[in-house]
Amino acid sequence: MSDFENTGILSISDLVLPTNEQLEKGVAITECIQRIPCNPCVDSCPVHAISMKDINALPVVDYDACIACGRCVGVCPGLAIFVVKVQGDQALITLPYEFLPRPQKGESVSVLDRAGKTMGKGKIIRVKQQGRTSIITVSVEKKYAMDVRNIRV
Ligand code: SF4
Ligand code: SF4
Repeated sequence: MSDFENTGILSISDLVLPTNEQLEKGVAITECIQRIPCNPCVDSCPVHAISMKDINALPVVDYDACIACGRCVGVCPGLAIFVVKVQGDQALITLPYEFLPRPQKGESVSVLDRAGKTMGKGKIIRVKQQGRTSIITVSVEKKYAMDVRNIRV
């Protein structure tokens, strides 16, 4: 049962979870559960993997169609899209980040869950700039694939 209305923090039970196979391929996960008129994620996807019934509906990702390119991550005004890819005993989490200083590739950073709780350390694998948003890929222990959603430099 979601406690989002009280806490403003999503839990895993609010999401449509990808399978292990889909996580190994890499998928975008839209953690967007408020019905607001917004759809840049839909337009950004080169393979039309994100759909919405109407402009106020919630986005739905076709996890099989998603090629984990990450384009949708930087266009979401709610910073609510993450790409997760499991690789061996690690999970690569691609997330939007708008604080300064920006992390550098190879840097060790604290990794946080949705509530801002520190889960441990992660290593920055990639940093891309998209306007004022940095698109960060951080490597964490595989067991945190569905938990880590932020970093602290
Ligand atoms: S990661 Fe790329 S392919 Fe997947 S939903 Fe986002 S834009 Fe589409
Ligand atoms: S762009 Fe972000 S906030 Fe807007 S519908 Fe897509 S996931 Fe939700």
